[in-house]
Amino acid sequence: MSQKTLPETTGPAALLGLAPQELRRSVTSWLEARGEPAYRTDQVEHWVYGQAARSFDEATTLPTELRAELGAAFRLTPLEAAWTARSSDGTVKHLWRLEDGEQVESVLIPAGDRLTLCLSSQVGCALGCRFCATGSFGFRRHLTAAEIVAQYRDSLRFAREEMGRPITNLVFMGMGEPLANPEPLFAALEVLHEGFGVGARRITVSTVGLVPGILELARRPEPFGLAVSLHAPLSELRAALMPIERRYPLPELLAAVREYLDRKGRRVTFEYTLIEGINDSTELADSLADITSDLMCFINLIPWNPIPDRPWRSSPPERVEAFARALHRRGVSAAVREPRGRDIAAACGQLRLEHGDPAS
Ligand code: SAH
Ligand code: SF4
Repeated sequence: MSQKTLPETTGPAALLGLAPQELRRSVTSWLEARGEPAYRTDQVEHWVYGQAARSFDEATTLPTELRAELGAAFRLTPLEAAWTARSSDGTVKHLWRLEDGEQVESVLIPAGDRLTLCLSSQVGCALGCRFCATGSFGFRRHLTAAEIVAQYRDSLRFAREEMGRPITNLVFMGMGEPLANPEPLFAALEVLHEGFGVGARRITVSTVGLVPGILELARRPEPFGLAVSLHAPLSELRAALMPIERRYPLPELLAAVREYLDRKGRRVTFEYTLIEGINDSTELADSLADITSDLMCFINLIPWNPIPDRPWRSSPPERVEAFARALHRRGVSAAVREPRGRDIAAACGQLRLEHGDPAS
């Protein structure tokens, strides 16, 4: 990890990184010290969460002078949209520039009544899954809780203003491994849930399979959703695709998933990206059914989204269908997920940040 100091660990407190109760406490004591009435805290909360303000200058119900003072005392972590791309299928990808110049991406995906926001948790990723563009990009740094929440806040504003609709679902399937950055992730989940009022059932954390993080998610009181990137049902094959398999092998991973199911009673999603001739045979579908058929789960089959410098191809539709049928025959719920935003390199695993032209 980079040793440099993150912008938000020094200077004024980043409000988006504080638990809502903490925000109340620090804003109230700051206001009290200035002799401001107690109701001002509610007003600040309203602007931060309800209005998704990026600056206190927007807080028109507050006296002008107070706005400036609040702006000097607290940060709202506005992200700079370095680049916005719209796919022909309605998907929108944002490239956000952070305060220290690092960049992350988030993706808005409309589907029927839903508008799902795919969030990043790290700049790059250290886990090196062979099929993933973010993995080949390497790790640069963790995001702070405020930076995670700010992607939501700024995407919400975009959705309201440019798409005329609210965000309904959040998935941590952007850049990075959320459970490798647990403290900021769990802090951000709390702010999104309690501050911005996003239902816990509408938030899903996708993980490569970090067991301690899955257990922490299981132990939390809120029913946040869990998606686990499986991609292979046999340890040896999984290890060839995903180095993490050596640290948390399948039996241990599945035991953690069971713990989550026992505690939450909420269906787990397994993600399985299909690469032609690598992990898409019907024999492997059978092995996948062997390890999942007794779990309350759903398998998302994702035809692999090609990335540069890999000698692979996406599984052709007939192989994907045969794989899905083999699972269905064994009573396992599975569906093929249409890749979205492929034309703007916004699909799963294609986020990688090329300075200058991130879509190339
Ligand atoms: N680090 C987390 C979340 C980010 S990746 C994780 O690995 O789960 C989101 C999903 O995209 C994961 O299931 C990941 O395995 C999948 N993915 C990565 N690269 C992909 C690619 N090129 N094509 C299809 N899916 C991919
Ligand atoms: Fe990291 Fe997830 Fe990509 Fe693996 S699939 S390299 S864990 S972002």
